[in-house]
Formats: sequence, C-alpha cells, structure tokens
Amino acid sequence: MSGPNFETLAIHAGAQPDPVTGARATPIYQTTSFVFDSVDHAASLFGLQQFGNIYTRIMNPTQAVLEERVAALEGGTAALAVASGHAAQLIIFQALMSPGEEFIASRRLYGGSINQFGHAFKSFDWRVKWADPADISTFEAAITDKTKAIFIESIANPGGVVVDIAGIAEIAHKHGLPLIVDNTMATPYLCRPIEHGADIVVHSLTKFMGGHGNSMGGAIVDGGKFDWSKSGRYPMLSEPRPEYNGIVLHETFGNFAFAIACRVLGLRDLGPAISPFNAFMILTGIETLSLRMQRHSDNAKAVAEHLKGHDKVSWVSYAGLEDDPSHANMLKYSPKGAGAVFTFGLKGGYEAGVTFVEALELFSHLANIGDTRSLVIHPASTTHKQLADEQKIGAGAGPDVVRLSIGIENVADLIADLDQALAKI
Ligand code: PLP
Repeated sequence: MSGPNFETLAIHAGAQPDPVTGARATPIYQTTSFVFDSVDHAASLFGLQQFGNIYTRIMNPTQAVLEERVAALEGGTAALAVASGHAAQLIIFQALMSPGEEFIASRRLYGGSINQFGHAFKSFDWRVKWADPADISTFEAAITDKTKAIFIESIANPGGVVVDIAGIAEIAHKHGLPLIVDNTMATPYLCRPIEHGADIVVHSLTKFMGGHGNSMGGAIVDGGKFDWSKSGRYPMLSEPRPEYNGIVLHETFGNFAFAIACRVLGLRDLGPAISPFNAFMILTGIETLSLRMQRHSDNAKAVAEHLKGHDKVSWVSYAGLEDDPSHANMLKYSPKGAGAVFTFGLKGGYEAGVTFVEALELFSHLANIGDTRSLVIHPASTTHKQLADEQKIGAGAGPDVVRLSIGIENVADLIADLDQALAKI
C-alpha cells in the first residue's frame, strides 16, 4: 500500500499521542533545555552520533513535529523549522555561499526577498544576479563559474504568476547547481516543487501554512537528491567540519545532509529559532491546509473573474484566468488552483487606489498575505511609496496596482465589499 494521502498527512504526519500524558494534540514544549541521561549521552548528542534534544535554539519536540509534517507534505527527506521565512532564506544561503560568490534569483519575488538578496546579503558579499521567469533562458545566461544556486518562487508574489519550475530545474542541473523554490504562495497543497526538480524548498510558514495571520515561522525542506560532493563547490557539506570532530555532513547524513547542515551549522550558529508556541500554532493551522487552500483559490478565481468584467478595472493578473499568460504553467504546476494572491489595475490610477483601499470594509488594509481574512494593499501609496514612479512600475507596483490576498469568507460578501468600494472611486 502506498502511504497516506495529503489530507491525512496534513493532520497526522510526525505526530503521536504524547507517550507520558496521552495528550492527542502535540504539546507545546515550552522549555529552553533538556536534561541529559548521563555524560556519555550528552557527549553523543553534541558529537552528532545520536539525535536528541539539547537546547531549544537547535531542536525542540514541538518544532520536530512541525518539521516532519512539512517534509512529508512537500515530499522531502527532512525539514528544518526556523523563526521566519527570511531566517530560512538566510540559513540556506549561508550553507551554500562564500564571500564573492553569486546566485541567480527570479526578478518576480516578494519585495522583502528582493531587499534581502539585493541589500542585506551585500554585507556577506553574496552577490545576486536577477533573471526573468517569463524568459527562462535569462537564468542560463546569468550563470558564471561563481554561481552557487538558483532561486525562484513557485507562484510569484505579487502578481500570482506561476513559474516554469521544471524548465529552470533543468538549467540548474545542467550546470551542477541546486534549485531553491520558495513555495510560500502555493503551499504543497497546490504545488510540490520537488516533484518538478527542486532541490530545496523554502517557506514563510507565516502565510498560508499557518494560515491565520497569528504566528511567524519559516521552513527549509531538503529534497534529498542533490549531490553535494560531486563538484567540491559546497565545502560546508563535503569537507570535514572542525566543530564536529571532522565529520563530513554529506558522507554521514546522505540524502538529508542539507537539512542537517542548516540545523547544526546555520540555526545553531546564527540563532533564529522558532518558538515552541508558534510551532504549535502553525501545526494546528496546517491540519486544515487542504480545505483552506482550495477555498482560497476558488474564492480568488471568482473575485478575479468579477473584477475582470468591472468597468473601473483595466487589467487583472491571475494565473487562474484562462487568458492569463501563465495559465498553461498553472495547469501544469498548480492544477487545483492558482492560490489567493493577485494584482489588478484601477483605471483611475493612484488616487483611485487610495480611495478604494480606504473604502473597503471587510478587507483589511495591511502588509501581509495568507490569512483566513481577506487583505488588501495599494503598494504605490504604502510599501513602495519611497520609490520613484519608474522604479514602482519596474517592481510591479505602478500607481494603479492593487494587491489582494483573498480569504476564506463567503465570496458573495467579498464581491459586495469590492463593489461598494469601487462605486466610491
Ligand atoms: N517569501 C514570500 C513569498 C513571502 O510572501 C514572504 C513574506 O511576505 C517571505 C518569503 C518572508 O517571510 P517572513 O515574513 O516569514 O520572514
């Protein structure tokens, strides 16, 4: 018999009744540290001869259930949960990059990731080169002998564009590079990047995985297929580690060595641990992931279709619409739906955007996505206000652009709220 289906894994993977109390929900192990059985036990934990809990910055039992569940849902060999999506990205690149080296990233990314890669990473001298997912040959053209990885989002935030994961994976592998896919917007319910060639999947669990807009978290999933020793260009994994008695992580941990490297080098030394309480909240959210993501996508499609026909709207960019340029990719990579987030343009431009956002009653005006509640932002007057008009347009945040993250409320109520706000423009 093959393993349990997705909906079952979302509820059960990684969890057992608590062996001491019988508690059925995963307990919140709200402790910083764990008692050793003996000096020998402590020594074997510190030397990586045995897995176990030492200190919550590195591992905690609530976090461990979350990790096993996310790995199971993504079809990876192992996962690591951390404090936020950005922390997960930092840890991944720290395991791969040395100063002066490069990676290639899609231009179509969450704005915070564009800042992290383009500005914050400069202090480590990790250099990003941008490529355009609408023309995947730009990824290959950007590769040099300093390139260490390629980074894309499966469904790009904002804009809801579905990216050609398999096409970009083929380019990466031809050049001996791992493909990292941020699967935050799709979640594994809609899209499983490892099945299409991704080597590492990264998540902001803060969004749809947790799903209720109440807890920050991030995850790294090891796809288990990349050969970290072949080229000798990933020394963190393929060379002896002085801080662990000369262990070679890839040799010792095989197909989950990347997840181990992220835990025992990245998380241990950089420190962005997830709190046990947030791990618990996100685990609870994941139990209903299938129901929520289907509803998010169905509602978003209905709203996108409605807006497309509205006389105050000039365009709608949503892969779920049949005439959208990334609809073919959506049918291939995310066939159950195109997710909750998309952008559209108001004919009235900047002023209309401000009036519209302020007139909405059910939609919350804020800088987040992936909540049960419907959310809205007008980037030109908020997140991107400091940019010049030309830069705004380049970043997909032109004066007319509105971004929605459609929640799981009744869709007729959402459409009624949008209509009353559009009527005020
Ligand atoms: N990736 C995507 C696609 C996101 O939308 C976000 C946050 O909005 C992040 C990463 C960063 O995650 P976090 O806010 O958990 O650090």
